[in-house]
Amino acid sequence: MVLCEDVHKWFGHAHVLKGISLEVRQGEVVVIMGPSGSGKSTFIRTINALEPIQRGRIVVDGIELGPDLHRIEAVRREVGMVFQQFNLFPHLTALQNVTLGPVWVRKWPRRRAEELALELLARVGLEEHAHKYPAQLSGGQQQRVAIARALAMQPKVMLFDEPTSALDPEMIKEVLDVMRELAASGMTMLVVTHEVGFAREVADRIVFIDQGMLLEEAPPDRFFREPAHERARRFLSQIL
Ligand code: ATP
Ligand code: MG
Repeated sequence: MVLCEDVHKWFGHAHVLKGISLEVRQGEVVVIMGPSGSGKSTFIRTINALEPIQRGRIVVDGIELGPDLHRIEAVRREVGMVFQQFNLFPHLTALQNVTLGPVWVRKWPRRRAEELALELLARVGLEEHAHKYPAQLSGGQQQRVAIARALAMQPKVMLFDEPTSALDPEMIKEVLDVMRELAASGMTMLVVTHEVGFAREVADRIVFIDQGMLLEEAPPDRFFREPAHERARRFLSQIL
């Protein structure tokens, strides 16, 4: 579903992705871990062309990303993204935030988009909050709206970049529960997170990135029990 081959990225002279190769199959959940500044966000952002790459190739659902804007748009339609900061439109209600994409990008009639949006808001446990503005919602609720908004585009792949790290502890679980359900429904997911419980339980594979390199790839039980790479061991000793 997602194929990355020898992906390189420079910011000016800084070589921040140094040849990352990764294949994510349909329905797989891959958790990306690694120290701060290692390139996790940059890598995940290359997959929907938020960051252009300078070498290597990225193919999403058979579409090869490149400089062609039509293809970038085509890939973005297939890839939903959820960020640490929820990035909801503050002047729109939850329902309006979720219908925006289907109406403007997919050109759906408003009625049909609203039906889908209400269904998705119910799925993330927010049917009663559909008409509230982001400022009237808790952080966890806003993040669940952001997930519903991404799902409204009916993506084939969902990218999450530390979706719970801006949340108070009591709200983390409600967001992780939504992600757990999404994984169980068969969604292909790439998730940057330090939530070890979630990673252990939900991930098919953990990918460890350090200094722009993919150093290790393993099923969670093995990664957390006996990481092969010394840098992964050091990282785990800091977060566990
Ligand atoms: P964190 O865990 O803190 O979120 P990360 O693993 O997501 O870190 P990135 O944000 O991908 O790391 O950053 C990788 C490197 O690229 C860092 O050295 C960072 O300073 C640099 N970098 C990121 N974005 C830019 C940018 N827009 N311009 C220049 N350098 C950048
Ligand atoms: Mg990051």
